[in-house]
Amino acid sequence: MDSTALLRLRGIVKKFGSFTALNGIDLEIREGEFFTIVGPSGSGKSTLIRLLVGMDDLTEGTIWLRGERIDQTPANLRPTCMVFQSLALFPHMNVGQNIEFPLKLRKVAPQRRRERVNELLDLLRLPRSYYDKRIAQCSGGERQRVALARALAFDPEILFFDEPLSALDYRLRKTLEKELKDLHARTGKTFVYITHSLEEAMVMSDRIAIMREGRFEQIAVADEIYNRPVSRFVAEFMGEVNLFEIRADAGGTLSGKALEIAPDARLDALAPGTEALLMVRPEYLRFDGPGERFEFALSGTLHGEYALGSRIQYEIETETGMVTVEKLREDRVRLKEGQPVRVGFDAADTHVIAEPA
Ligand code: ADP
Ligand code: MG
Repeated sequence: MDSTALLRLRGIVKKFGSFTALNGIDLEIREGEFFTIVGPSGSGKSTLIRLLVGMDDLTEGTIWLRGERIDQTPANLRPTCMVFQSLALFPHMNVGQNIEFPLKLRKVAPQRRRERVNELLDLLRLPRSYYDKRIAQCSGGERQRVALARALAFDPEILFFDEPLSALDYRLRKTLEKELKDLHARTGKTFVYITHSLEEAMVMSDRIAIMREGRFEQIAVADEIYNRPVSRFVAEFMGEVNLFEIRADAGGTLSGKALEIAPDARLDALAPGTEALLMVRPEYLRFDGPGERFEFALSGTLHGEYALGSRIQYEIETETGMVTVEKLREDRVRLKEGQPVRVGFDAADTHVIAEPA
């Protein structure tokens, strides 16, 4: 058990009638961490956060904050705060009144409240004159900053975010992602962040948890989740991926549908007499050319080419299905649709997922 954990969850179960929304969650979050929970819609992300902030009761399990049990503590007495997708700002109050609202509830004196609002406006890089600005006159980005300032008002131990950027347009989202990451660094607070955007998770997080049907499928740093997913589900959730069936016979010889495998190719992670999924991210596949030598190769025909900003994606139809190859725009390979192509990769570019095809 990690003794430095700020927040610790043990055996969390949440049922709605006969439906189990959370099915045995164990988790430790470290102080100062930016921890992100990613998962498909309905996987239980919001339900988990609602339990953590005390908006709902758990069915089984315990929640500990700094070694103190808090799962029976009422929401308003928990040193945590939540930022919702909808922000939930009060439209009839001005910026300052919104930010100081949690302080008023805690009966902080007006003078001190005003000082604190100024500190928070500075922290969020909003002009102090915004104290009197009406919420309706604030832009989308400014409202996000006001909501953040309000969430930080009473100096909570942990901030929880439930998809706060998902309703915003791309540019504003990108700006606020960076601001949030920066705010995290400046405040040193613990952030627990929910998103269904993989990109958002990769940009901001120290660690990522992948949620599936009320459980965590994998918890790790972004790089590990991307390069060494534990399952097909995680691999596919974390962006484009090629998965090939692979077998090692009792003597260790490798074979796989549609794969040409060099006799000296080795996969240390695949035990003799077993089968698994061989994962290769699209950026690791190479087109055949003079002097090229592959440990693993496939042949097929070019199905299509797609420009994705700075990258180009190629789809290749093979006997084992569509294979995706990605290149930087400057490394673009000129190919015609329907043209025969051969692509390949080496064992070092792969990851073995111990899951039958
Ligand atoms: P996510 O935030 O990952 O999209 P939720 O945590 O909101 O998912 O929901 C997880 C599951 O629990 C969903 O199937 C949802 O319908 C169900 N659920 C959530 N809240 C309730 C509730 N109050 N009553 C019944 N079912 C609920
Ligand atoms: Mg949700």
